Amino acid sequence: MGECAICERAVETTRHHLTPQNRKESPVAPICDPCHRQIHAVFTNHELKHRFNTVADLKESEEMRKFASWIRKTNKSHVRVDETEHVSDWRG
Ligand SMILES: [Zn+2]
Ligand SMILES: [Zn+2]
Repeated sequence: MGECAICERAVETTRHHLTPQNRKESPVAPICDPCHRQIHAVFTNHELKHRFNTVADLKESEEMRKFASWIRKTNKSHVRVDETEHVSDWRG
């Protein structure tokens, strides 16, 4: 058990690499499974590396603020998150 750095719930957390293209040296943040899936569904690794490479940046993004306020109300530890077109288009 830990505390999610995004939604601040006391739940099981996973390790998110803040700069995904450089996993070895990347700082990691404890993030719950739903928030973690959401991060990778709405942001590309490129955006994570360049724009959202700190917990504060992620947390203040509109996408994650909306998601965090929703997940806090649900009490869910696992959710299905679909990759947004924004991310799948980028992957090609
Ligand atoms: Zn969370
Ligand atoms: Zn991650």
